[in-house]
Amino acid sequence: VSGATREQLDRAEDHSAHNYSPLPVVIESGAGCWVKDVDGVDYLDVLAGYSALNFGHAHPALVRVAREQLGRLTLTSRAFQHDRFAQYCEDLSRLCRKEAVLPMNTGAEAVETALKLARKWGYDVKGVPPGRAEVVTCSGNFHGRTISIVGFSSDPDAYTGFGPYPAGFVSVEYGNADAFESAITDDTVAVLLEPIQGEAGVLVPPVGYLAAVREVCTRRGVLMIADEIQSGLGRTGETFACDHENVTPDIYVLGKALGGGLVPVSAVVADWPVMRVIGPGQHGSTFGGNPLACAVGSAVVALLETGEYQERSRRLGAYLHGMLRELPVRHVAEVRGRGLWAGVQLAEGMPSARAVCERLLARRVLAKDAHEGTIRIAPPLVVERDELTWAVEQLADALAE
Ligand code: PLP
Repeated sequence: VSGATREQLDRAEDHSAHNYSPLPVVIESGAGCWVKDVDGVDYLDVLAGYSALNFGHAHPALVRVAREQLGRLTLTSRAFQHDRFAQYCEDLSRLCRKEAVLPMNTGAEAVETALKLARKWGYDVKGVPPGRAEVVTCSGNFHGRTISIVGFSSDPDAYTGFGPYPAGFVSVEYGNADAFESAITDDTVAVLLEPIQGEAGVLVPPVGYLAAVREVCTRRGVLMIADEIQSGLGRTGETFACDHENVTPDIYVLGKALGGGLVPVSAVVADWPVMRVIGPGQHGSTFGGNPLACAVGSAVVALLETGEYQERSRRLGAYLHGMLRELPVRHVAEVRGRGLWAGVQLAEGMPSARAVCERLLARRVLAKDAHEGTIRIAPPLVVERDELTWAVEQLADALAE
């Protein structure tokens, strides 16, 4: 670690909460899949801001739109309408093939919003007695860091020390649609799930799981909420991970890449029979749906509507997974994932995923460990084939070190 890097790390350590343990690198600029640190060293970014950077760093079309909007109008609050709002809500609804958007800023906020929406729907439409609404969640989930969300996490690091938690959540085994159906009562309003569990280590559920959950939800009158914050917007080779099973949830929860890596933008998207239950004064956000967010969000939708990013993710993802599966079994126990999203599960006896990520850093590849000995590989969707080849070579060498 150079003097310039060390100095930045020490100052941050002194004056920021220690709620992360970042790899020892300090980045100062980025373009496409590459970032440069304060010493001028270039790194290939294969984390892509946990999929917030699906279009890469500083995508020219997104930066252009953001710059224009910065000079025009950035905030009105929702007290007044602005001229980017209608267009954005139309654009995102069209992308989702849904009727209405409720704009928020961060992922956790959007998840909270979906939960409020589902509860209100339960009382107003389904007829659940007041105060009784139940939401089914899944083991191994990650939906963010608010109190209610960590309250239904199965990760002790996430929830310990933050109780008491709101009631009304039950957890079932992820990937098991029968377990979900058994947990349904007259008071169940929704199931909340990730179509692929990202933070849990890029866990892909068994084939047919999403379709089975959809069928149960329809038959039993329960809303299906798909948290596509990490899996959606091109990452898996389709616009949404649910598309792989031709499943349309009742509620999409979106975030991360929706802001193109430029601004925090999240949203809940649903049809009117659900969205209608929230009225004026019942939910909101000062920054949700602001002009800058809407301008960038519309530009993100336009990029996705070309289909180019989904196609790249499918094609290059197949190439990436093919290479990763060639890694020696004494190093890698399993490779999971879909499209340009892979979880590389280290074999028994290997050093920690964190240690491997540190070796990758020394080889100029920025990757991040996920839970339980998994290295996640999720580069921007603008990555090129030879960059993937190089990254996997670095990984192979780092594993063999
Ligand atoms: N949901 C999923 C599936 C996520 O992966 C994340 C973030 O990693 C979140 C929700 C939370 O998003 P945010 O960090 O923007 O609150």
